[in-house]
Amino acid sequence: MTPPPALRVFAIGLRTRFRGITVREGVLLRGDAGWGEWSPFLEYDDATSRPWLACAREAADEGWPEPLRDHVPVNVTVPATDPGRAHAIVAAGGCRTAKVKVAERGQSLADDIARVEAVRDALGPDGLIRVDANGAWDVDEAVRAIAALDRAAGGLEYVEQPVETVEDLAVVRRRVDVPIAADESIRRAEDPYRVRDLEAADIAVLKVQPLGGVRACLRIAEDIGLPVVVSSAIESSVGIAAGVALAAALPELHHACGLATVQMLTDDVVAEPMLPVGGMLAVARPDVDEAALARLTPDADRVDHWRARLASVGQDRAL
Ligand SMILES: [Mg+2]
Repeated sequence: MTPPPALRVFAIGLRTRFRGITVREGVLLRGDAGWGEWSPFLEYDDATSRPWLACAREAADEGWPEPLRDHVPVNVTVPATDPGRAHAIVAAGGCRTAKVKVAERGQSLADDIARVEAVRDALGPDGLIRVDANGAWDVDEAVRAIAALDRAAGGLEYVEQPVETVEDLAVVRRRVDVPIAADESIRRAEDPYRVRDLEAADIAVLKVQPLGGVRACLRIAEDIGLPVVVSSAIESSVGIAAGVALAAALPELHHACGLATVQMLTDDVVAEPMLPVGGMLAVARPDVDEAALARLTPDADRVDHWRARLASVGQDRAL
């Protein structure tokens, strides 16, 4: 019998509302290999939350495959803000790739164009610009907007999830020259194969928790044969380390990753957060900081909620 892993619950504030939440909660599990993070979103049912637990257990019990690189490039993310602020965010970020949020409700294509122009000015001619519509356009809007934003950017690296469904992604992809990346269309382990089979995207955005861990993502990447962008689910640095481990172990890494998201949190569970330097994140296994956990442990009812949830999802040996 192996002894039960240590289990800690954390709650960290978000600097801005994300998916309707202002606090990011989750569980840290410690096993023989180190700490793993389990932080499925609150509305997820047990079945949806199970691959997320597999990811945490891989980190805690097995660790990750040997890295092929010791740093991974990451992008700065520009929210749907005004051009002046967009310029400042990119100039301060130190990244050579910027992801610009577009198609925000209540804004126009002209707003998106102005934001993208400001980002190009801040990045200089050599930087890469990708835009992310989070599925907000319909097919015709997407075709028109992508052409306009491609011009404004002086060439886009790719457009992420311009439309909501995989079927529509495939239609848009056939009508534009800019590469298409699938993000929201990939949420479960079977989704990347559907994206491949429908030829719906040129690039697959993979996240280690929803897809069941680093090894599971390496298998998917090999099977689908598409370039991969590793992205986060807005984890603490313990969870981000798993995404970095995937990016570091991929045989080929052609694009900057969406793993520079620790800045979206007001605090962290480690003493040395996974923050980029010069547009790169170092491969690391950050250790949990007890002083941080002491300040980030939520009320007893939230701890009980997470323990019960873990028991339900994992029939867990930790309890
Ligand atoms: Mg996205």
